[in-house]
Amino acid sequence: MLKEIYLSMGIKSEVYDYCEKIIGSLKERFDEIDQMAEINQLKVLDALRKNQVSEACLMGTTGYGYNDIGRDTLEKVYSDIFHTEDALVRPQITCGTHALALSLAANLRPGDELISPVGKPYDTLEEVIGIRESKGSLKEYGISYKQVELKEDGYFDYDAIKNAISDKTKMVTIQRSKGYLSRPSYGVKEIGELIKFIKNIKPDIICQVDNCYGEFVEDIEPSDVGADLVVGSLIKNPGGGLAPIGGYIAGRKDLIENCAYRLTSPGLGKEVGASLEVLRSFYQGIFLAPTVTASALKTAVFAANVYENLGFKVIPSGAEERHDIIQAITLGSKEKIIAFCEGIQSASPVDSHVSPEPWAMPGYDSDVIMAAGAFVSGSSIELSADGPIKEPYNVYFQGGITFPHGKFGIVSSLNKLYESNLVSLP
Ligand SMILES: *Cc1c(COP(=O)(O)O)cnc(C)c1O
Repeated sequence: MLKEIYLSMGIKSEVYDYCEKIIGSLKERFDEIDQMAEINQLKVLDALRKNQVSEACLMGTTGYGYNDIGRDTLEKVYSDIFHTEDALVRPQITCGTHALALSLAANLRPGDELISPVGKPYDTLEEVIGIRESKGSLKEYGISYKQVELKEDGYFDYDAIKNAISDKTKMVTIQRSKGYLSRPSYGVKEIGELIKFIKNIKPDIICQVDNCYGEFVEDIEPSDVGADLVVGSLIKNPGGGLAPIGGYIAGRKDLIENCAYRLTSPGLGKEVGASLEVLRSFYQGIFLAPTVTASALKTAVFAANVYENLGFKVIPSGAEERHDIIQAITLGSKEKIIAFCEGIQSASPVDSHVSPEPWAMPGYDSDVIMAAGAFVSGSSIELSADGPIKEPYNVYFQGGITFPHGKFGIVSSLNKLYESNLVSLP
């Protein structure tokens, strides 16, 4: 029955059979992911119940947004989920980069030093920090930056971190997900050990974790292991595919207060910021986030196994434990990257009829092809892929807000490769 539907949607019989065999081998993995979703679902539900979320919380405010009960309650819900003293969850935080820039700029002062103990941060942070010259960077405000490179195995160089820390060191920023690098993504426990090490050297260092793509992948978050601030985007995991915009920062009360004064204005802080019409989607999104993240994880594990079994290098490997939702596949040629992305695009709920093409995107040093047919523009909790057209011809993909859709996307990508004679099946 299912096979007939797949065939009617253009999938070749051999491709379907191969993929079903892979699915059959993943039952245990999927059970583990479902169990994690259950733990996190209850964590979120508990926070919603404890804070007595009511229908009034789903209505927004306009204008200044004074006494926005829905916004204030949602921030308490986030604090309870992340076990922090306070949180800032706002549509005025435009994206993940903005949330990270906000938290850094709010908590650092001229003369302070920021350290990344985990090597190069996410591309967009280079301009925030001033690693690449940029107007308004932290560097322009007299905030210095040091980066401690990772060891060859991709893990922390504790000696070098110890040497880097000085009297000036006010804050460290630790990126949980590898993003689009080839280092490992870090587990929450590993991050906890790093934070403990840093605080042992200088207890007042503010430890911030870039939590993008990591939320609800494990049953604890970095704020459970000593992080003073966790930061992320609502058009990734915690928005559950429903939030149309937004970012969050959760952490210590005094640090969140700084963020609020920086986001709005000194003197105003958290008291202003109308939530307009977004609150229902923020609440419903965080409620769905654990199972949506689970769908994205299953899609990633499925894809890793589909392509690994055909001889492609995949990071993480098919069997490895996951710390985020990103999957990289080394396809090895331009033609394969294009075919993969065409397959994902054609399986999208929006813009399935358009064909993605490589182009010279600003900020990249090669052409990039992107597949994204999402309800929320640029949302990367929805099934999406991008591939820089350069050696080693990696495609990075993430998302899938339902597993049946993520699965169909991956099957479609393989179907394109197969139809173009770019792979042969076992
Ligand atoms: C996505 C991401 C960011 C930046 O988020 P944007 O919403 O794209 O600005 C920062 N760090 C990591 C690890 C990310 O995955």
